[in-house]
Amino acid sequence: MKSYNPFWKEHEKDIIIHNDKMNIIESCIDRHAEKTPNKLALSFEDHKIKTYTYKQLQEETNKFANLLNAQGIKPSSRIFIFLPKIPEMYFSILGTIKQGSIALPLFEAFQEQGLELRLERGDANVLITNSELAKRIPKDINKKVPTLKHIIIIDEDEYKNKLKKQSTEFKTVLKNKLDTAVIIFTSSTAGTPVAGIEIPHQALIQQHYTAKLVLDLKPEDNYWCTAHPGWVTGTIYGILAPLSIGCSTYILESHFDAKNWIEFMKKNKISVIYTAPTVFRLFKSIIKSDDLKLVRNVCSVGEALNKSVYDFYKKLGIDINDTFWQTETGAMVIATWNGVKKKPGTLGKAIPGITAKIIDNTISLKPDFPSLMIGIYNHKQMFKDYFKSGWFRTNDSATLDKDGYFFFVGRKDDIIKTSGERVSPLEIENILQKHSSVKEAAVIGIPDELKGAIIKAFIILNDCIEPTEKLKNELSMFVKQNYAGHAYPKEIEFVPSLPKTNSGKIIRMKLREMEEKNKK
Ligand code: AMP
Repeated sequence: MKSYNPFWKEHEKDIIIHNDKMNIIESCIDRHAEKTPNKLALSFEDHKIKTYTYKQLQEETNKFANLLNAQGIKPSSRIFIFLPKIPEMYFSILGTIKQGSIALPLFEAFQEQGLELRLERGDANVLITNSELAKRIPKDINKKVPTLKHIIIIDEDEYKNKLKKQSTEFKTVLKNKLDTAVIIFTSSTAGTPVAGIEIPHQALIQQHYTAKLVLDLKPEDNYWCTAHPGWVTGTIYGILAPLSIGCSTYILESHFDAKNWIEFMKKNKISVIYTAPTVFRLFKSIIKSDDLKLVRNVCSVGEALNKSVYDFYKKLGIDINDTFWQTETGAMVIATWNGVKKKPGTLGKAIPGITAKIIDNTISLKPDFPSLMIGIYNHKQMFKDYFKSGWFRTNDSATLDKDGYFFFVGRKDDIIKTSGERVSPLEIENILQKHSSVKEAAVIGIPDELKGAIIKAFIILNDCIEPTEKLKNELSMFVKQNYAGHAYPKEIEFVPSLPKTNSGKIIRMKLREMEEKNKK
């Protein structure tokens, strides 16, 4: 998509563009560092609290960008950032983009094989991590990923000393509007388990606009987005969009704990929250209306927001706004926002500037908006396959009513959403198949009251292997330890055969239908 429609042209004025050149960091940091240098930009909490004003964030980001240059890392490199939600994760993403390179944030739960696959598929040039997560880097990574020339371990003295010497001044490198700023590696079922979705600099026009319209973010807000930057929501609406607005973003590095999370919200006077329905469901048992009295706007993303959850919060005085989008769209495309009439149980309406309709039962978008992906790294055909008869197909089934509200039905493909996190069954099946007991494996998501879906694996064992409970646990742990801590099968069933097409492809749809029948 070479140009976007006139609606978005009008909104270019909200971010910094020099004719056709830009770098999103000028809008996210530099302009605020000049106008409101002492305003809180990011506040991090793990066991202690660290805060950074816009000026300090600019200095930290500049030091990181200078360090990349000092290491001889050329602009346009692909820089993977594999860290928890600590300040260095944010400085690395922002500094990478500022230096003219491409940031590829990774979720910290990936284990050796999940990490390796992404580094290899993304032709990684640089990997930024810490000494704990570095233990998951395969020993022979240089052979497996020959493009990988630099591994930077942020908690080693060598790195810290080099960083200290860097200047806090850096001249932002301007890029073309359509150059890639970020690649998010997300799950796919179209022939490859992972796909690097390329999001361009110009996407910030739509990210900024939707942060204003839907999140209703204003510079005076204290904002909390619970997603890790390895997921698209965590990078786009957890870092870039709120910074471009100039508000204060609060980041909590901790596993889910309803009591702690509610405390965090109250203590920091959070006024706008963006999170997934799983979190709303997990809060339900203890949250009270008093806990939410400072919260002005609550938005939901990533999985279906059931009407019962919506109604529960409505009674507490919170009218949740649902938002629908995907890594591939780069920003929200359908939502409800304050001022638009809500129809509970729907995703909402197409946001202004977006033309959406249902084609072949799926949500389809006119590809004339600025945040749409500009490619899938090394997968030209797969990218083309998203577009049919001039429309971008989301692969999400839905219906549309006469007032323009979309009702979500489900994914058309086999992608699993568990706690709002996107998982490819292919990737888990590939790992399971590496276990010596497994002959064949098929993976699906099954409905779960709290997490939306949990992962279930159907396994044909090799001859002479006993189908025991102990083996089920061993297989679950095998995936957890080798692939990812967030995406291992919670349920396993040993089966004598799997439903297949004539050409031998597993029909996961059949397994989902069987599962539904059994539950009834
Ligand atoms: P991701 O690329 O990880 O953001 O996942 C995108 C997918 O999450 C979409 O294609 C949908 O299947 C699902 N999704 C996103 N937002 C919603 C929502 N509000 N309601 C239901 N499903 C959603």
